[in-house]
Amino acid sequence: MSTLEIRDLQVSVKLPDGELKPILAGVDLTIKSGETHAIMGPNGSGKSTLAYSIAGHPKYEITGGSVTLDGQDILELSVDERARAGLFLAMQYPVEVPGVSVANFLRTAKTAIDGEAPKLRTWAGELRGAMEKLQMDPAFAQRNVNEGFSGGEKKRHEIMQLELLKPKMAILDETDSGLDIDALQIVSEGVNRVREGGETGFLLITHYTRILRYIKPDFVHVFVGGRIVEEGGPELGEQLEAEGYKKFLVKA
Ligand code: ADP
Ligand code: MG
Ligand code: MG
Repeated sequence: MSTLEIRDLQVSVKLPDGELKPILAGVDLTIKSGETHAIMGPNGSGKSTLAYSIAGHPKYEITGGSVTLDGQDILELSVDERARAGLFLAMQYPVEVPGVSVANFLRTAKTAIDGEAPKLRTWAGELRGAMEKLQMDPAFAQRNVNEGFSGGEKKRHEIMQLELLKPKMAILDETDSGLDIDALQIVSEGVNRVREGGETGFLLITHYTRILRYIKPDFVHVFVGGRIVEEGGPELGEQLEAEGYKKFLVKA
């Protein structure tokens, strides 16, 4: 069992002129493997800042608080070390990796995380299986990472990574944006499959309630003004779908 603990996290973004603009105003959140948490909030509330800060993006400066995974301070680790520790971060705008095929990228990532290369024979089967479950053309494995990927292909690639890398904690930022309804279903089914394994804790970050029809979170957190202003169960997601964020904006 793994636990991600975010305590009083305060983060500023580094502006081009070197100034710091405070965004996260003390975030507290505990996620255990097997649990699915949704963070929902309006645009500009700092949701992506939370994801990028945990990922170790250099643009964000931690000004207070802590993030630990099973007691280990992850804010001290390099981006690679965070991935090896078992954190998975599907980014809102995944980058292109020129000249690296999907198959090679996944094998390299798996090797880095496990500390040894996966057996060629079983790996090929796992890769094929993951692609079949996502209804992807096998030729996709030979394409360069994110080069000319459609929104749906990017998301399928993220879910493939989830299925193959089996992280302890997965943070998915706006996985539902830009997905047509078929892709949304395929991605949701992928998340639900990994979820059933019970080894991974999920943090789903979104401002649409749509994805919550397919992935039922155990906990919902309303995020406004750089912090969590309300917490509840799935019923809170339903309330947001019906009423929007208006009621919570006054609390921020
Ligand atoms: P969300 O994901 O909830 O839409 P973000 O974390 O992307 O919110 O942004 C939160 C706030 O931080 C916004 O007001 C945004 O303008 C500001 N912000 C984020 N990154 C930068 C940046 N690089 N430069 C200036 N402001 C930024
Ligand atoms: Mg946004
Ligand atoms: Mg965002």
